[in-house]
Amino acid sequence: MSLAERENARLNGVRRTVLVVDDEPINRNLLGYMLGNDYDIVFAENGKEAWDTVCERRTELSLILLDLLMPEMDGFQVLELLKADDELRRIPVIVSTSEKKEEVKSLQMGAVDFIHKPFDAPEVIMARVRRSIELAEDASIINATETDALTGLYIKEYFYEYSNRADRYAPDKPMDAAVVNINRFHLVNELRGRAGGNEVLRTVADYLRGAAVEAAGYACRGEADAFYLYLPHRESYEDLVGGVTAALETLIHGAHISVRVGVYSNVDKSVPIDQRFDRANLASAPLRSSYESRVAIYDEKTHERELYNERLLEEMDEALATNQFKVFYQPKYDITGDKPVLCSAEALVRWIHPELGFISPGDFIPAFEEHGLINKLDLYVWREAAAQIRRWRDKFGMTVPVSVNVSRVDLQTVNFESELVNIVKENGISFSDLLLEITESAYTENEESIVKTVAQLRETGFKIEMDDFGSGYSSLNMLTAMPIDALKLDMRFVRHLTADSKDIRMVQLMVDIAGFLSVPVIAEGVETEEQVQLLRECGCDVVQGYYFSKPVPADDFEKFITREKE
Ligand code: C2E
Ligand code: CA
Ligand code: CA
Repeated sequence: MSLAERENARLNGVRRTVLVVDDEPINRNLLGYMLGNDYDIVFAENGKEAWDTVCERRTELSLILLDLLMPEMDGFQVLELLKADDELRRIPVIVSTSEKKEEVKSLQMGAVDFIHKPFDAPEVIMARVRRSIELAEDASIINATETDALTGLYIKEYFYEYSNRADRYAPDKPMDAAVVNINRFHLVNELRGRAGGNEVLRTVADYLRGAAVEAAGYACRGEADAFYLYLPHRESYEDLVGGVTAALETLIHGAHISVRVGVYSNVDKSVPIDQRFDRANLASAPLRSSYESRVAIYDEKTHERELYNERLLEEMDEALATNQFKVFYQPKYDITGDKPVLCSAEALVRWIHPELGFISPGDFIPAFEEHGLINKLDLYVWREAAAQIRRWRDKFGMTVPVSVNVSRVDLQTVNFESELVNIVKENGISFSDLLLEITESAYTENEESIVKTVAQLRETGFKIEMDDFGSGYSSLNMLTAMPIDALKLDMRFVRHLTADSKDIRMVQLMVDIAGFLSVPVIAEGVETEEQVQLLRECGCDVVQGYYFSKPVPADDFEKFITREKE
């Protein structure tokens, strides 16, 4: 059975509604008698009544059987009204008449078929009704290529069409919109190769197809690694997550792959279908970097976050123009000697909003990145940092190198390198004074072009620090191809570091990798004396964290510089 056939079979369980319009009671009774077994029938006695019913029931109707000669408003007038309405014109109309020349005219006016009076061939009438309904339903989806070649699931447009249709037939049935995403799919691709990545997608797709059929719902492949489900409402999605996880565990090392499921539960059907899935997506966004498979439900809080994010996006330009963004500095200390020595600082942006108060970068950076606004803000931060390096040099006669964060989105902007070069030159500092922190996951996304960009930057004289190292799954041979000057450990390994934790082995492993690459190791998120001691023993070179200081405004930072000079 093809997918379309299977789909029809499923929809065959749903009773369609047919409108029978005729001024003769005997005709209405006859047609009602013939079709009543297979369809829900509504009746109208004339064109006027028919039109009222159509307007009231709109797309709930699957077919209209229309008499042409009637008092008040005749069948031709009804056809004309239907044709003028974009949505209603899709309802197939079969006219019933005894006049040959009227048949032709009605076909020209949009009727799909005709039946003869008197009604003496019930099988013919029933067959024509059935075929007309099928054709009309297929026509509405004929433009979409049904399925995705890789997974065999519907593509999105087709899926939306089916979901809308299900709603038309059962407008009051509670439904859920769910989106299943594979976490860090780019890394899955990176580690397994394209073929391996495809295998993962197919495994998830197969499971979801089964789950959708079982629940009498629909599944599709939305984007690369996102699957959409439109299902009758259910209380919990834990079983679905469990099922996907179990399916993935059948793959080699599949247990390391996790999914996130966002659910917009009991959807408001006045919200357009695509927006229902946007909401589901939004709900699961915070689970993006989770290592476990988890579910998030769209609720009032998600909605508020949506509005809050929109507000931040809208107000960024004004905030830049009115200096609401402040650059803070957090010191980094070299711990290779007897006593820690200030060696550089990291520039971290904060938003001091006139109404919302202090906003931390974790709340706005991801949204800015997603909407392509980050470059503007980063340029501002880089400029501020470069100017600050210069001011400190002039004031204290020493250079404190400052590292700035470079978003992966920055790396793809056109003038990225020349912008950085200009900033360095305008402030009269050296390239090596402005350190660039690039997060590990940026490297794994568009490897070739990023390696090229980064190599170019190093040639110019910039120093590159790989941020959040250990958060992705960089393979060793990928790292050796990667031009970098320092590895900065992901905070995850440091935050709970104690002498007996297993994180200590991870830190040692990463220090070994750094040794292999001949680059120093920086640890951030260091909060206690014990951690500093352990990191020193492991062979970390540089330490940053609350143990020394939180990020502070430039003025406050000066005390660290004066202390160094004592
Ligand atoms: P990141 O680059 O990994 O920055 C380190 C984060 O850890 C900072 O959070 C810092 O305040 C925090 N931190 C430092 N020491 C400790 C500690 O001992 N304990 C704890 N619990 N936290 C510590 P922050 O400032 O909230 O920044 C969050 C992230 O936002 C940054 O992570 C970075 O990815 C991004 N970000 C910050 N400023 C910028 C910027 O100007 N441009 C871009 N593109 N991203 C930025
Ligand atoms: Ca950083
Ligand atoms: Ca980091």
